[in-house]
Amino acid sequence: MDKSEALKLLVQEIVSDTSLPLQEANLVFGEGNIDCKVMFIGEAPGKEEDLQKRPFVGRSGKLLDKMIESIGWKREDVYISNIVKRRPPDNRDPLPNEIEAYKPYLAKQIEIINPKIIATLGRFSMNYFLPLAKITRDQGKLFKSGSYNIFPLFHPAAVLRGTVPTSEYEASFKKLKHVLGALNLEFGSF
Ligand code: URA
Repeated sequence: MDKSEALKLLVQEIVSDTSLPLQEANLVFGEGNIDCKVMFIGEAPGKEEDLQKRPFVGRSGKLLDKMIESIGWKREDVYISNIVKRRPPDNRDPLPNEIEAYKPYLAKQIEIINPKIIATLGRFSMNYFLPLAKITRDQGKLFKSGSYNIFPLFHPAAVLRGTVPTSEYEASFKKLKHVLGALNLEFGSF
């Protein structure tokens, strides 16, 4: 089965799983290049994402697009998704049971896409892979979680709120590009 078929089946599995929380909202599965090198993972869809059934299409999404373009990439080059795949009411933070419930589906989605780097957006997504990490200390650095390479980034909303300077955010995206380049170095194998 190819990646695209596997992802379609996964969508069907999520739709049929009526035990999942947040049933009243639309499913925002994720989108982008399924053969990407970098997969971005945010927290949960907001209002605009719920309406359009697409991840990161509101204000945070516009900033994410800008950052991706600032390093010479395009949104279409990467894959974008969330840990929780339906919008929590009033954009509240996702609850631990919601993260837990969507976990097997996210795990499968990552396994199918198999990116070189998972770039997490915000602390919920970062702590999903790296429970002990602290966002201000650890963003902009590369970590291993099992077989995955994790690169934590601030959530774009933190930049929109003014908590994180745009220049710092841009620098972290540059670092992401650099780290990917270094991972792509070809080694000989026996
Ligand atoms: N914030 C997120 O974490 N994800 C989205 O898809 C949109 C906003």
